[in-house]
Amino acid sequence: MRKERHVLVVFPHPDDEAFGVSGTIATHVKNGTPVTYACLTLGEMGRNMGNPPFTNRENLPKIRKKELMEAAQALGIQDLRMLGFRDKTIEFEDEEKMTNTITALIVELNPSLIISFYPGYSVHPDHDATGAAVVRAVAKLPAAARPTLHCVAFSNDCVEKLGEADIIHDITQVNDIKLAAIKAHRSQTEQMFAGMEEKLKNQDPEVMARLNNERFWTYKFE
Ligand SMILES: [Zn+2]
Repeated sequence: MRKERHVLVVFPHPDDEAFGVSGTIATHVKNGTPVTYACLTLGEMGRNMGNPPFTNRENLPKIRKKELMEAAQALGIQDLRMLGFRDKTIEFEDEEKMTNTITALIVELNPSLIISFYPGYSVHPDHDATGAAVVRAVAKLPAAARPTLHCVAFSNDCVEKLGEADIIHDITQVNDIKLAAIKAHRSQTEQMFAGMEEKLKNQDPEVMARLNNERFWTYKFE
């Protein structure tokens, strides 16, 4: 993994970082690279309340905020920003406001790498709108000043339309940290873990391959 000056991670929901990116984040942190995670919402409209449920609608934002902070701590992220947007509304936000929010982070932090969702290939409208705001903010910079943008995509047609991911990080060495980050989002992941426990214990090849390989598409600006 290339040594970066500063990595900026931008996602809309607590736990978006956990599955596809947390091994990469943990590796950058281990390399001594500052990592900022800007999380746009607290996922307060999520339907999972734990299984069996251990919270309710009123308390979900509080719980998810705590889980997010625990996940960030597990990954060693020193700079966690909770930007206070509302879950499930990113696609309806003023585009200029969204762009300016990301631009302000770029100006402040001067990242050499940004990680976000690939707009149009990330399944949830909040994901696509977040990725689109990042792309607009980076595109506004002069070409020579643009940080590299690595996008996560997981729509069914992403490989068909975008080709294979050009970046694959083998994060096996930090997969224990990744699992801790996923587990920290207990209200969202406990049930999934219950179903995976046996496979993890037996090092099921399919599960391990998915866990240990994080794939990104480098965004190509005109
Ligand atoms: Zn999400």
